[in-house]
Amino acid sequence: MNAFDEELRLRLDALETQGLRRELRALQSQPGPVAQIDGTPALNFSSNDYLGLAGAPELKAAAMAALERFGTGAGAARLLYGSLPPHAELESALAEFKRAEAALAFSSGYATALGTLGALLGKDDVVVLDKLAHACIVDAARLSGAKLRVFAHNDLGQLEEILKWAEGRAGRVLIVTESLFSMDGDHAPLRELVALKERFGAWLMVDEAHSTGLYGAHGRGLAQELGVAGGIEVQMGTLGKALGTAGGYICGSRALVEYLLNRARSFVFSTAPPPAIAAAAAAAVRLVQTARGDELRRELWDRAQHLRAAFPERARGSRLRSPIFPWLIGDESETVRVGAQLRRNGILVGAVRYPTVARGAARLRITLSAAHTPEQLGKLCERLALDTIPSV
Ligand SMILES: *Cc1c(COP(=O)(O)O)cnc(C)c1O
Repeated sequence: MNAFDEELRLRLDALETQGLRRELRALQSQPGPVAQIDGTPALNFSSNDYLGLAGAPELKAAAMAALERFGTGAGAARLLYGSLPPHAELESALAEFKRAEAALAFSSGYATALGTLGALLGKDDVVVLDKLAHACIVDAARLSGAKLRVFAHNDLGQLEEILKWAEGRAGRVLIVTESLFSMDGDHAPLRELVALKERFGAWLMVDEAHSTGLYGAHGRGLAQELGVAGGIEVQMGTLGKALGTAGGYICGSRALVEYLLNRARSFVFSTAPPPAIAAAAAAAVRLVQTARGDELRRELWDRAQHLRAAFPERARGSRLRSPIFPWLIGDESETVRVGAQLRRNGILVGAVRYPTVARGAARLRITLSAAHTPEQLGKLCERLALDTIPSV
């Protein structure tokens, strides 16, 4: 082994000792409630495919039709080569869906955050994040060069203090939060946030990665459900969760979208999303707005209710509809042990550790889908009750 590899092996060993080493699993199945892993089936409670659309025939058909017509790759960045019909179709579907003037599609949610914050902010500005905002928002905020401030999770009092501090400064203030938090499954107080940012003349960006397709009329999102979408300057979301495909988007004013397509570096300097994926995403945006979308949401909330009722003491914010059920354990190695035990018993859940969550706040992340049957959920509850007893 050469010195380079030796150094990396030592670093991996250190991660292992702390219970922080991660590994890839090989899957052999389509997305769905049953995952085939190393030839063994397991019930999948670890993906973000909340409506079960990643394997839906309508999306596959849209992708295949676009694949036949436009090929596998977009060929270049859109400013260099051009926009294909699926890109335009996706953006007009998104804008209509979100009741916004315009939309811009990016190749991933991560790239969306990086490009957008980088375009909107510079070193004279202030960016204020919820403590639990997604890693891509944290990275984007750092990269933007703006002064970074963080408020405790959903703590409006602390946010107000920061806004007061920022008031006298030159430059803009942008608040960024999620609407449904990815690791805790709880909601941001969007109405209060909008009122606060208006009082201080700040801008607001809300990442609806986990809530688009699930909340509000026709799945338009939590901001729409709470009636505050019009008060949010920058509406972000991703296409890889409830929408079952891949990519990210920004919805907002025409000026915002025109500005971003000029200045968001992850848009300007990156190959456009594959046309087949854009076509499938457009089909997903249409599908979630139909009666079938309503039915899938009803099924999802029914499953969520079932799980909360089975473990009421663990159901944080239990009156909120949420497909994300964090099962807090704390210790990293213990979380890995319990996750492996569940896996041996045919249940696949995420064992989430630092740096995805804070040190000592490791947890199982159980995610539900409309595609799960009540029987599958019953099996999950049974195994959770047996397998999460701490080892001594
Ligand atoms: C998953 C996620 C992203 C990143 O989206 P990708 O398309 O997976 O890159 C961004 N924000 C939040 C809140 C997410 O959960």
